[in-house]
Formats: sequence, structure tokens, C-alpha cells
Amino acid sequence: MLKINNLHASIEDKAILKGINLEVKAGEVHAIMGPNGSGKSTLAAVIAGKEEYEVNEGSIELEGEDIDELAAEERAHKGIFLSFQYPVEIPGVSVTNFMKTAINESRKAKGLEDMPAKDMLKMIRDKSELLEIDRKFLSRSINEGFSGGEKKRNEIFQMAMLEPKLAILDETDSGLDIDALRIVANGVNKLKSKDNAVIVITHYQRLLDHIVPDFVHVLHNGKIVKSGGKELAHELEAKGYDWIKEEVSA
Ligand code: ADP
Ligand code: MG
Ligand code: MG
Repeated sequence: MLKINNLHASIEDKAILKGINLEVKAGEVHAIMGPNGSGKSTLAAVIAGKEEYEVNEGSIELEGEDIDELAAEERAHKGIFLSFQYPVEIPGVSVTNFMKTAINESRKAKGLEDMPAKDMLKMIRDKSELLEIDRKFLSRSINEGFSGGEKKRNEIFQMAMLEPKLAILDETDSGLDIDALRIVANGVNKLKSKDNAVIVITHYQRLLDHIVPDFVHVLHNGKIVKSGGKELAHELEAKGYDWIKEEVSA
């Protein structure tokens, strides 16, 4: 699915990622953890193709195709979904209409016609039932007055509708209350399949009590310094990140 080779990236001439190697196969859930400032969000943004970042070395492949030269939008159309940490409010645009537009834009980019209204409604109904989203929520203006949990619900709903091949959820270090945490975890667990892959980025282990990752990677100073199974997340929760830093500098 995703193959990252020796990725080096910088922002404003400051080197942030310093040789990342990562392979994510279909059906897998990977967690990326690490201390604040280690480069987790940068990695997510670089995979998604955000243009503020410059790739200085290395490559990113999606299903065997080099995507380095593609713009963020093109990557999204190829099936990369990045959760937005700071969602915008769009007064007057309902959650439903926002989703319809997103779906049809994505189809258009693939040379497809708009999804027939009947199919769209069915998809919205099926996905919202799966995620236990009520009808009232669907008619609200996007992100307007949304609580943290509701923003997450909208984000997961969008992910469900777009059916990405690779979903990257970059969870901010704060602001995930129990409600929001459960929404994200349930969503990921319901949406994961043998055909897609998920990268969950989190500073804290507690999200991983609900989403059980197949692999855990620790990012430190722009490099993956340790990889393991789900037990690595527990070890980090118990011991913090300092031992990793010491191991690296030893
Ligand atoms: P994490 O998500 O692990 O907390 P980030 O990827 O957000 O880490 O940041 C990694 C490093 O890059 C930090 O030192 C941060 O200050 C720096 N950085 C991130 N974004 C920018 C930016 N827009 N301009 C300058 N430095 C940045
Ligand atoms: Mg940070
Ligand atoms: Mg971050």
C-alpha cells in the first residue's frame, strides 16, 4: 500500500524528517508515537502532499506508484485521507451537502459522473447507521458550534464516505476527550478492512486501548527509532519517552 524510503523533509530550510523508512500493507493499522516535536505531524503532512514541506531526499510510493510529484489533491483522489486537525466552519453548508460535494469532486477527478442522488442517499444512510450518526447531525452546518466529539464524528463520517485506501489520523496531543476518543476508535475499527490501511498518529497510548495497532513506531528527532507490536505502546505509557531518547543517544 504505502512504501516510504529514506524520506528527508524540511520546512523553511529546517530539516525535520531525517530518513524515514516505513512500509504499510493493506489490512494493517500502524500507530506512530513519539514526543512532541519529533515530526509526527510533518510526516502525515508530507505523505498527504502538503506543499509547505519540501522533500529533500527519498520517495513515497502508493501501491507501487511514486507519488512524490503529485499535489495534495491528486493524492487525495488516489485514496489518501488525512484528518484535519483544525477543521473550518462553513455556515449554511450541511454535513450531508458537504459530503455530497466531496464525493462528487472525487468522482469528477476520476472522470466519473456525479453519483446518482438515490445511491448517494443510500450511501449516506448506510454509513451514518454504521457509525451511529443521527439524522439531526447530518443537517447541521459543517463544524458550526461542533463540540470536539462532533468534529471527530464529522471527520470519521467523511472518511467513511470517501473510503480511502490509506487513512492517516493525526490526533492532537490534547483535546481528545473520552467521547471523541471513542468516536475515533469505533470509526476506525468499523471502517478498517483487508483492503485499506490506517496510520494513527498519537502522543498518548490511551487511543490505542481502543484501536489495537498491528505495529507501533516511535518517531524521535525525525527518525523512526523503534518499531514493535502493540506492546510497545504499553511500554511507552509505563515508561515515557526518555528511555527511547537515551537508547538512541547511547
Ligand atoms: P509532532 O507532530 O511530532 O509534535 P511536528 O511535525 O509538528 O511534530 O514538528 C516537528 C518539528 O518541526 C518541530 O520542531 C516544529 O517546531 C517544526 N515545525 C513544524 N511545523 C513548522 C512550521 N510550519 N514552521 C517551522 N517549523 C515547523
Ligand atoms: Mg506537536
Ligand atoms: Mg503533531
